[in-house]
Amino acid sequence: MSIIPKLLLAFALVVATALGVVAVLTERAVGTEFRAYVQGGGQAYTTRVAALLRQYYLARGNWSGVEGVMEAFKRFPDDRILLADGTGRIVADTDNQLVGRELPKIDGVTPQSINVAGRIVGQVVTLSQATSNVPGRGGMLGRIGEAGRGRGAAATTATDDLQPTQSPESAFESSISRALWVSVVVAGLLALGLGGIIALQIVRPLRLLTRGAEKVASGNLSYRVEISSRDEVGQLAGAFNQMAQSLENDQSARKNLLADVAHELRTPLTVIEGTADAILDGVFEATPDRIRAIREEAVLLTQIVSDLRDLSLAETGELPLQKAPASPIALAERAIRGANVAASLKGVATELSSQPDLPDIEVDSGRVLQCLGNLLGNAIRHTPEGGAVRLILRESAPPERGITYIVEDNGEGIPAEDIERIFDRFYRVDPSRARRSGGSGLGLAIVRKLVEAHGGKVWAESNIGQGSRFHISLPAATASRPSRETARQA
Ligand code: ADP
Repeated sequence: MSIIPKLLLAFALVVATALGVVAVLTERAVGTEFRAYVQGGGQAYTTRVAALLRQYYLARGNWSGVEGVMEAFKRFPDDRILLADGTGRIVADTDNQLVGRELPKIDGVTPQSINVAGRIVGQVVTLSQATSNVPGRGGMLGRIGEAGRGRGAAATTATDDLQPTQSPESAFESSISRALWVSVVVAGLLALGLGGIIALQIVRPLRLLTRGAEKVASGNLSYRVEISSRDEVGQLAGAFNQMAQSLENDQSARKNLLADVAHELRTPLTVIEGTADAILDGVFEATPDRIRAIREEAVLLTQIVSDLRDLSLAETGELPLQKAPASPIALAERAIRGANVAASLKGVATELSSQPDLPDIEVDSGRVLQCLGNLLGNAIRHTPEGGAVRLILRESAPPERGITYIVEDNGEGIPAEDIERIFDRFYRVDPSRARRSGGSGLGLAIVRKLVEAHGGKVWAESNIGQGSRFHISLPAATASRPSRETARQA
């Protein structure tokens, strides 16, 4: 069942219940109050009639001729006044039918006694049409008929004459009740109409979202839902669009990576294949130089594959970091020692300088050495013979708490337009040269991921022709104490 009929049903049920309860309660309250009002009024009326009749009696000393004045005591033409003497025999009836009979007992109607000098000289009863609607009692006027039926023809005639017809009071009650039920129906219809509009407004964005989810599920990751409302559905649409955007980003990153990897692997493979084929075909001689060239390409392939593994683990946050407090200067010394062979082969000097009393850092030492080794290797590779590479260690500038490694060279430098991109995977300023020198193009991308995994930052600055500076800042260990080591020359 769709949500619209459900909502409509819910609206209709709520409105019908609420209005029905209001209508029933109001109808009851109006009926009860109104009857109490009419009956209360009737009692006061009887007392007034009794007082008037008492005066009549006081003036005459008996009831003779009283029927002549009783007509004038009626409130409405339909009213009826019965007067009995002290013994209960009716002496006057405004309808002139029950005279001489005994005053009948009528449920809910108490005759009003007329006392003169401590003696009951008469009893008076007033009847009106309105009281015939009292529930559970039947019509009072009807009862008089029943009372009179056993007493002869006159009483039977009275019954016929006294059949209830609709009084102004009951007409008032039924018109109130009709108005109430009409308003229930009208309000119900209005609620259904408005409910339908509201239900449509709720359902429309949900349908759009469903369509969006279907599109994305079927592979159309660029599909976005257009819902501008600021309510919960609008927020859901925003979250949905964000999800689709990040899926699309992931998909394009994956495509790019695959394309990059295929491209990077193809170059050394082509060299290996071409050289091997030429040797097999007898075009080239299998000299040690040719075989060395094949081996170098194989080494590059191994490097790319192992760097790719590191990078993918670091990117998905799955690279396990064995963090422990470490002395930053001790790490710097090990990194410089590791770079010294390559530096001396190239004829480049290395140097280490450090501020004293630096705080310990809590890091995976192997990974930090990998980063420093990478930066130092790059610096040596891009610095000509006779140049110098320095590893500088200092406290990070406030507000950061920690240390910063700076790898500085006075080599070729990096053009300003490339500096932002050198941390991207497979980005090389001079692709052919970099590849010849054995770089996988993934080194700086891995450095960035590793440093970020430690909660640190890496950035570079460079002047073309003058050299480059690479910075790695790492946060201090939480309960760090200053390292005892001081600056040393490598
Ligand atoms: P590669 O394996 O090619 O060295 P990296 O990610 O380590 O890959 O470096 C990316 C590119 O950044 C390099 O190809 C090089 O062009 C440039 N680069 C890195 N370090 C330096 C440096 N110290 N001086 C000049 N260029 C550098």
